[in-house]
Amino acid sequence: MTNQTQNGNSSLHKPGKQLFDSLSDAHLAKVSEHSSDFTILPWVNVVKIGGQSIMDRGRAAVYPLVSEIVANLSKYKMILGTGAGTRARHIYSVAIDLGLPTGVLTVLATAVAWQNAQMLHYLLAQYGIPFVEPEGFSTLPHYLMERNAVVCQGMPPYKLWEPNPATGRIPPQRTDTGCFLTAEVFAARKMIYVKDEDGLYTADPKKDRSAKYISRISVEELLALDLDDLIVERAVLEFLARSRNIHEIQFVNGLIPGQLTAALNGEPVGTIIYKNGHSNDHA
Ligand code: ADP
Ligand code: MG
Repeated sequence: MTNQTQNGNSSLHKPGKQLFDSLSDAHLAKVSEHSSDFTILPWVNVVKIGGQSIMDRGRAAVYPLVSEIVANLSKYKMILGTGAGTRARHIYSVAIDLGLPTGVLTVLATAVAWQNAQMLHYLLAQYGIPFVEPEGFSTLPHYLMERNAVVCQGMPPYKLWEPNPATGRIPPQRTDTGCFLTAEVFAARKMIYVKDEDGLYTADPKKDRSAKYISRISVEELLALDLDDLIVERAVLEFLARSRNIHEIQFVNGLIPGQLTAALNGEPVGTIIYKNGHSNDHA
C-alpha cells in the first residue's frame, strides 16, 4: 500500500514524505512549520509553586495557598508543579565540592523537587489529587477531568542527560523550565509562577531596594536588558521567545491571598512577560 492511499490525502502526505530526508536539513525544518498546532489540553493551567519562595516557608505560606488552590478546583483545572529551593542549593554546593557533573546535580535536584511535590500532594490528598511522575503523564488528562488538579515535581525529566550550562555546573533547566515546557507541549491556557515577590524588578528586590518594578514586558526586551538576576530561569525566556503555544507567562505573589485566583481569572496581577506580537493589552 502506498502512503498516499494510507493517508487518503496527498497534501497531508507531502510533508511526511520529506521526513525521509535528512532531519538536519534546514528546508525540512521550514516544512515542519506549516501544519497548525494541535492544542492537547487547552483548558489546563500550569501553576508552579516556588521551592525556596513558597514551600521552604512552611505552613505560613503553604497552608493559605493550598486553601486558595482548593477554592479554585471547581472553576479551573491545574497542573501544580513544585520547585526545589534551599535544599537543592545545599546539595548543589556539596556535589560541586565533590566534583560531580551537571547531570548528577540534576538527579539530586529532581529528588528535592520531588520531596516538595510529595508534601504538596499529601496536603491535597483528601481532595483526590494525585502526584504524577513524568512517566505517568499519559494519565494526566483523566485525573484532570476527574479531580481538576494533579501535582508533579517541576524538574524536566532530563536527569543525567541535562546539558551543561554555558558557565559552571548548575543545571540550567530547572523547575521553572520544566513547568514551562509542560505548559508549552500541552498548549495550556496559562503558565503562572507563584513566588514570593509581586513580580519582576530591574534587580533582585531582596538585595537592591532601588529596584524598579516591571508589570509588563516583552521577552525580547527583557532578554535585551540582560539583567544580572531574574525572577525566572533564563532558559524559560529563551524557550518563550521560540514558543509555539504559550505566548505569555505570569508571576504572582503567593504570599498575598487572592493573587493566584486573580491570575486564574485572567486579571493582570503581578508581572506578565509576553512574546512580541502576542500582547493582550490589559490596560
Ligand atoms: P522558586 O522558589 O520558584 O525557585 P526563586 O527563589 O528561584 O524561586 O526565584 C524567585 C526569587 O528571585 C525571588 O524571591 C527574588 O528574590 C529573586 N529575584 C532575583 N532577581 C529578581 C528580579 N529581577 N525580580 C524579581 N525577583 C528577583
Ligand atoms: Mg528557582
